[in-house]
Amino acid sequence: MRPGLGEWGGRPCDRTGRPNRKKDVPIVAQSTETTDWVSRFADEVIAESERRAPGKPVVVASGLSPSGPIHLGNLREVMTPHLVADEIRRRGHTVRHLISWDDYDRYRKVPGGVEGVDASWAEHIGKPLTSVPAPEGSPHANWAEHFRAAMVGALAELGVEFDGISQTAQYTSGVYREQILHAMRHRADIDAVLAQYRTKPKAAGKKGQKPVDEAELEAAEGSGAAAEDDGSSGSAGYFPYKPFCGNCGKDLTTVTSYDDDSTELTYACGECGFSETVRLSEFNRGKLVWKVDWPMRWAYEGVVFEPSGVDHSSPGSSFQVGGQIVGIFGGEQPIGPMYAFVGISGMAKMSSSKGGVPTPADALEIMEPQLLRWLYARRRPNQSFKIAFDQEIQRLYDEWDRLDAKVADGSALPADVAAHSRAVRTAAAELPRTPRPLPYRTLASVADITAGNEKQAERILGELDPAHPLASLDEARPRYDRAEAWINTHVPADQRTVVREVPDAELLGSLDEEGRESVRLLLDGLAEHWSLDGLTHLVYGVPKVRAGFSADATPKELPPEIKTAQRTFFALLYHLLVGRDTGPRLPTLLLAVGQERVRTLLGG
Ligand SMILES: [Zn+2]
Repeated sequence: MRPGLGEWGGRPCDRTGRPNRKKDVPIVAQSTETTDWVSRFADEVIAESERRAPGKPVVVASGLSPSGPIHLGNLREVMTPHLVADEIRRRGHTVRHLISWDDYDRYRKVPGGVEGVDASWAEHIGKPLTSVPAPEGSPHANWAEHFRAAMVGALAELGVEFDGISQTAQYTSGVYREQILHAMRHRADIDAVLAQYRTKPKAAGKKGQKPVDEAELEAAEGSGAAAEDDGSSGSAGYFPYKPFCGNCGKDLTTVTSYDDDSTELTYACGECGFSETVRLSEFNRGKLVWKVDWPMRWAYEGVVFEPSGVDHSSPGSSFQVGGQIVGIFGGEQPIGPMYAFVGISGMAKMSSSKGGVPTPADALEIMEPQLLRWLYARRRPNQSFKIAFDQEIQRLYDEWDRLDAKVADGSALPADVAAHSRAVRTAAAELPRTPRPLPYRTLASVADITAGNEKQAERILGELDPAHPLASLDEARPRYDRAEAWINTHVPADQRTVVREVPDAELLGSLDEEGRESVRLLLDGLAEHWSLDGLTHLVYGVPKVRAGFSADATPKELPPEIKTAQRTFFALLYHLLVGRDTGPRLPTLLLAVGQERVRTLLGG
């Protein structure tokens, strides 16, 4: 979307009181307990938890692999159970939201473009993520901790309450000892389940089956659900467990023998040739393969709700296979909705200093946590949506502000009220708010024009609404800081606004009578209309008056040509003020430029 002129086709949308788009609102508003998807899952999860473990805390879970910068899209893995857990807490139940840090997973590849990392990190491929050195200059002890820390910071800002579980800590302290020994005793049962899915995709075309989508396979490959993750069958048979080598630390090992009675296990390393025999009843340097590890943990923690991404939910995927394996551990599969992809708009312009991957922390630099929570709360998990880093963020904020106003005056629909409530508070507390939430697009324009001059920004914001002047810039924070960060990091240089230093004498000299008179009318009304509302009235009013109508005439009373005249007039003003045919909204721009300079640039 182009900024500026395109928005001037009608009246500014934040003044029309136009209702929110209605397509996501259920036709029948039900009782508050079931008004949105979050409530409906909460009903289901509470009932299921009562059935499985009466009187026990409800357990929901998320899993994140700190194998590199954690992508903003993966936030859905956390937000979906968070919102459900929060609703359950609001109803007075005790909930544990587990976040499993899958930091005992193998280091698969060196992500590109991460600061402080070069090709030499490839020598660590195959080691647990916690055994890989952190990027150069990081204050953190290892790779996994480095990338986990950024996510933990973002989750705190988002108000997400969770129990973090390091799988490295769990495995290396022997927490899963019984489960590992149990899996080894039942390796034939596990193998039998996995065998059902080992038919290669080449055999696709089986009756009633869709051909395997290549993109789907690629997604599975990248997500850790690759085929190698179900363990390997060597000459000694199938084993669902892999030791990390005692010499080189990598997982390129093969179990060559195992004795159930003594638990003696012998492995050989394919990387360095090392071999040893250990007693699994006291050995802590290895893990269950992914497709067994996941259901083992469902059973161990009693997880009742854990959503998963589309790549984990296809036939033969870890979620489906896990459902067949979890019984071996005496547990049940969680309720596990598949969540759709979350896209990012405006990524092309993002710096690639962090591997070109937008993280939740990047989003929180340009938007308040309430807005980000709302994006997740208002869409059902199976609906995909985009998080805007481009101009769209301004429209999104307008929409949010309209909802906020409707909630305040009681005119919002129940499902919208629910999404709003989930965005602004958790069961524990209200998230910190900006005391004076001025329109984001206004703040962005002011930040754009003032380019870091806070005194000037404070003056302009103080003049927006003379009846209720802003006492200090702090009242507009943190929203102002977010808008400023957006302007500085995501608006390309060629779209930034640069106010002219000197009047465009040539253009001023070439104006026809219509142009000259319009500018004259504007200058005459400037002092009297020096506020956001006043200037809005003035800039729209000038072409009406020129055409012989009252400045107060409504669109219904005016011929359609007025719109063309307004556009022409606005384009002229943009040229005279900033030397282009678009720019920030004119009233904001005029306030930002200041009366004296406006007069100079307009030849007054
Ligand atoms: Zn080795």
